[in-house]
Amino acid sequence: MMRHRKAKIVATLGPASSDAAMIRTLFEAGVDVFRLNFSHGAHDEHKARLDAIRAVEAEVGRPIAILADLQGPKIRVGAFQSGKATLNPGARFRLDLDPAPGDATRALLPHPEIFAALKPETDILLDDGRIRLKVETIGADFVETIVVVGGEISDRKGVNLPRLALPVSPLTEKDRRDLYFALELGVDWIALSFVQRPEDVAEAKKLIQGRASVMTKLEKPAALAQLDEIIQLSDALMVARGDLGVELDPEDVPIEQKRIVRDCRRAGKPVVVATQMLESMIRAPAPTRAEASDVATAVYDGADALMLSAETASGSYPREAVTMMNRIIERVERDADYRRQLESQHADPEATAADAITAAASQVADTIRAACIVTYTSSGSTALRAARERPSVPVLALTPSRATARRLALTWGVHCVETEDARSFTEMVEKAAKVAREQEIAKPGERIVVTAGVPFGTPGATNILRIAWVGG
Ligand code: PEP
Repeated sequence: MMRHRKAKIVATLGPASSDAAMIRTLFEAGVDVFRLNFSHGAHDEHKARLDAIRAVEAEVGRPIAILADLQGPKIRVGAFQSGKATLNPGARFRLDLDPAPGDATRALLPHPEIFAALKPETDILLDDGRIRLKVETIGADFVETIVVVGGEISDRKGVNLPRLALPVSPLTEKDRRDLYFALELGVDWIALSFVQRPEDVAEAKKLIQGRASVMTKLEKPAALAQLDEIIQLSDALMVARGDLGVELDPEDVPIEQKRIVRDCRRAGKPVVVATQMLESMIRAPAPTRAEASDVATAVYDGADALMLSAETASGSYPREAVTMMNRIIERVERDADYRRQLESQHADPEATAADAITAAASQVADTIRAACIVTYTSSGSTALRAARERPSVPVLALTPSRATARRLALTWGVHCVETEDARSFTEMVEKAAKVAREQEIAKPGERIVVTAGVPFGTPGATNILRIAWVGG
């Protein structure tokens, strides 16, 4: 099954999309990567979803990536007497370590390390930024604040501390349990939430030890200050606009989104744009035109993938949301201006043999109007470099590794097929042409551009470019 678009679709599974039939429907509607959100749901629910995805994968014969998204150190207040309280502007409000239920004057904040990091005049945001407090005085186990913007607060609402780097580990005890469980299940990607610094990514990678690829969610302004280092350490990035949007001013979000996508493209790391893309489709079968425009912007910018969250996890129209995202992506990629916009951010090849070959392959494919570029890849890195070129034709990646085939499902323009490595020059060409024809990427009589590494089977040795005809 060949997708007729380059940008990929990530869909979050949840109560609205857990049964095997719906997971198959969503795949057929266009999902390339399924996200298991460990902020919600029990382990047995995630396992049942994973088993259903793997069953679909076996039925349709296409690699599907599974992304386990860890909750991360999300900070929350405790519970309130009668479940909620109203905070009035100008009133004092205290956050402390007392486990007793809160009221309009105080609440539990069970994170002693935060009190040490706070300074007078710091802003504290509650409930996705709806309530704003300003710090007045700080003690070892409390902070006194003034309510700047009031409102109703209820049990365990989230707390954001914009622009403050907190001394918290990127992985809580729950995250570690979820991580080992997800690795045991055999997920392809692990997403790290609330990463603040490059060391957070390094710490997680040490635990993961290559058993899955690592996607860093960019949702803390502190992380944006060290973006280059974080991109270098990560296997992929996500513009997690939900939490990022709470801590940044609204007008800064699109600027940061474009910067992140541009920098990830330059580094050749897949980048996902996430959250509220088709938000109104949680309750309606069609999106707003502003949402369609938001999806289109991410496609024009050349993001690798676009993500649906509640639209597919808990909304009333999961299939319609995927179908709509698929339609918008296909429409943009047919636009005459799309290539020009994509190429305006084209990054020059680096001074390596692999980049020289993949850049040349893209140019040759354009010049001779080839049907596709075929790349032999074992770790996936050559396919990533080929995708970095954002070529005008599809990249058919051939790999002997099932793990690589699945992980590449996230990558822009890459259609991956699991197959044995070629052992000779002749086999390299014949296999490439055969698979391209079988996958209906190339028709008999068309030309393809093949890249590989000699000696065959040596990872990271891409040094050959060959033009071949597809036979009848
Ligand atoms: C986000 O904040 O945009 C995000 C994707 O993370 P989560 O859905 O886990 O809040």
